[in-house]
Amino acid sequence: MQAEKVFSEIDGLRDEIIKTLMEFIRIPAIGPENDGEGESKKADKLVQTLTSMGFSKVERIDAPDGRVPSKKRPNIIAYTEGEKNAETLWIVSHMDIVPPGEESLWTVTKPFEPLVKDGKVYGRGSEDNMQSMFASILAIKALKNLKIKPKRTVALCFVSDEEQGSKYGIRYLIKKGLFRLSDLVIVPDGGNETGSFIEIAEKSVLWLRMRTFGKQIHASTPSKGLNAHRVGMQYALAVDKMLHEKYCEKDEYFDPPENTFEPTKKDKNVDAVNIVPGEDVSYFDCRILPRHRIKQVLNDVQTIAKEFEERTGAKIDIEIVQQNPAPKPTEATAKVVTMLEQALKQVRRIEPKIGGIGGGTCAAYFREANVPAVVWSTADETAHQPNEYAKIQNLVNDAKIFAFLATH
Ligand SMILES: [Zn+2]
Repeated sequence: MQAEKVFSEIDGLRDEIIKTLMEFIRIPAIGPENDGEGESKKADKLVQTLTSMGFSKVERIDAPDGRVPSKKRPNIIAYTEGEKNAETLWIVSHMDIVPPGEESLWTVTKPFEPLVKDGKVYGRGSEDNMQSMFASILAIKALKNLKIKPKRTVALCFVSDEEQGSKYGIRYLIKKGLFRLSDLVIVPDGGNETGSFIEIAEKSVLWLRMRTFGKQIHASTPSKGLNAHRVGMQYALAVDKMLHEKYCEKDEYFDPPENTFEPTKKDKNVDAVNIVPGEDVSYFDCRILPRHRIKQVLNDVQTIAKEFEERTGAKIDIEIVQQNPAPKPTEATAKVVTMLEQALKQVRRIEPKIGGIGGGTCAAYFREANVPAVVWSTADETAHQPNEYAKIQNLVNDAKIFAFLATH
């Protein structure tokens, strides 16, 4: 049977692909927002790697970005022509990674020194999103080795800037009109440990920067100044409490079912302990169920800011770092959903569950453009954490699903 041949070819290529994945972990691809140089070095190596693997049509679409040394944010598409001139199967993964965070928490290995242990590859970016990048490459490489033409054209798409809003990545490509409404789009950038979850909906995403201005002064005479840090902390706590109380509804279709509002990043303030800070900056990451309007949440946050301003004399500015209102979910009956369901049942013998998550992945931008898209992969969900890892078996198993989708 053809599928069996393909699967054993995938198994046979496993060590080679893991070796390549590890070389890629050594090349950080961090966006300029986090003081990184962008994805150019990784992209150059990826083009080389794909070409040497026999991908003959590799296209590169760079988005200009003056903030990085190469002045561009690369996006790469590797096409493999199919038997029929039908819809294209897109597998979209991202090259950029988040910073390693506190290095001392990386106890298994250093973030950019990949290590294989107990069937897992450790390193920053290993799971998010290189596991899926290489699962998609492995699938098509196996078909190429066996000289099997996919049923439909398969486009492996590797984008930049996913972690910071996708302006230079998938949004740039969607604007160029690369995708057709009839195409099949899989974004393997999320999922559960068994691979049974097919995501077709996301929450609205809202990132806020809250800047509190007071008056800097020596800490021995605080009454001569206005401590922005104290007001900022109290304000953030008040916002946190209000949001959780007011927006406490749940929707069991989503995982997690509730709205989430998390105080996350905190900008550095003064350099010395004996200075009362004149400015305090903190951030919130909000994931909001589609039934609520982002504008309403913003209004509520602003109302509390006004109260604090009047009460304390400080000034509070709210800035939107990012906002993505939840697009209309992909229909559960869309072809890409039913095909993936079938593949999971047949190849993996699992009964998939269809639902929504906190978002936001590249899939939201496809949905915004009315292109049906699913988010699916098999992952232990170690993304963005110290000691992030990719389970090798997950990569191999997902490659089999991609190969199955390409040939059925
Ligand atoms: Zn990701």
